[in-house]
Amino acid sequence: AKKAGRGEQRVFNDAMNAAAKDGLVIDGALRGAIAAGEFYLVYQAITNSHTGKLTKVEALLRWNSSLLGPVSPDRFIPVAEDSGIIIELGTWVLEQACRQMGTWKQSVLDDVTISINVSAWQLADPGFVELVSQALIRNRLAPHQLELELTERVLIEDAANVQAVLAQLRALGVGISLDDFGTGYSSLSYLTQFHLNTLKIDRAFVMDIEHSERSNNLVHAIIAMGHSLGLQLVAEGVETAGQAAILEKMGCHYLQGYHIARPISPDDLLRFADLRVGQ
Ligand code: C2E
Ligand code: CA
Ligand code: CA
Ligand code: CA
Repeated sequence: AKKAGRGEQRVFNDAMNAAAKDGLVIDGALRGAIAAGEFYLVYQAITNSHTGKLTKVEALLRWNSSLLGPVSPDRFIPVAEDSGIIIELGTWVLEQACRQMGTWKQSVLDDVTISINVSAWQLADPGFVELVSQALIRNRLAPHQLELELTERVLIEDAANVQAVLAQLRALGVGISLDDFGTGYSSLSYLTQFHLNTLKIDRAFVMDIEHSERSNNLVHAIIAMGHSLGLQLVAEGVETAGQAAILEKMGCHYLQGYHIARPISPDDLLRFADLRVGQ
């Protein structure tokens, strides 16, 4: 086997160092960023594949750092998870999303469900169910108006505890959605063992659905399986009319992606919803 040359090794080390430094810089900038009001949420529409009606909205976190400028969640969420700041940040997201939903009560958005992303750390926090319950009460929301998106990683981390927490959340009436389905540690047993009601098919499969027979078959199989387990199905990353048509024909209930709408501000979402009334 060919050994990595000294040059390659150095490039690798430099990249590692840059990544570590990047993480440290982000970590430093994250401290105080909540108090400084540097975070905000944008909202992405999820529509009924059949009628086009706006059904759910996913809240996505944005950070405009005073030190670093806009930082993408793919960069700062992992750092926030490593440092534990994600708990405080996740609590802020929960409250902010519920408050926004509360202000939509008397609007065209009054019967949408709001989805928020929840990390493993939050779910492991003993006060989490109470936190969710209080956020609902404070903002006068019905529990079915809130859905929590979890990744498969969350499920395996501390399976017994997670199962108990999810059972409590379901008893409360909150929806549980499995995010990025198909990318992780997918095991069929998760789908029955945990109290889920929605599967989100990852963008990686949706992306190739028109041109790759393999992706097409895979998505078809996931949808069939979801149907037989009584789960709702959402396709992520729908970027073309062709993808939307195929997914609808396969029986995928909901669509999310740039073809429908980008993540947008609350005002823009209201305008989007206005156009969809009666559809
Ligand atoms: P995710 O939960 O899978 O969110 C979907 C991501 O795909 C979002 O990226 C969204 O902007 C993007 N997206 C949506 N439709 C399309 C499309 O048609 N094409 C393409 N190319 N991309 C599309 P974003 O907002 O950058 O978020 C990235 C990830 O950061 C999220 O992935 C989620 O894992 C994490 N994240 C975002 N907000 C939060 C949060 O409040 N809490 C936690 N724990 N994680 C969050
Ligand atoms: Ca998500
Ligand atoms: Ca996702
Ligand atoms: Ca993702």
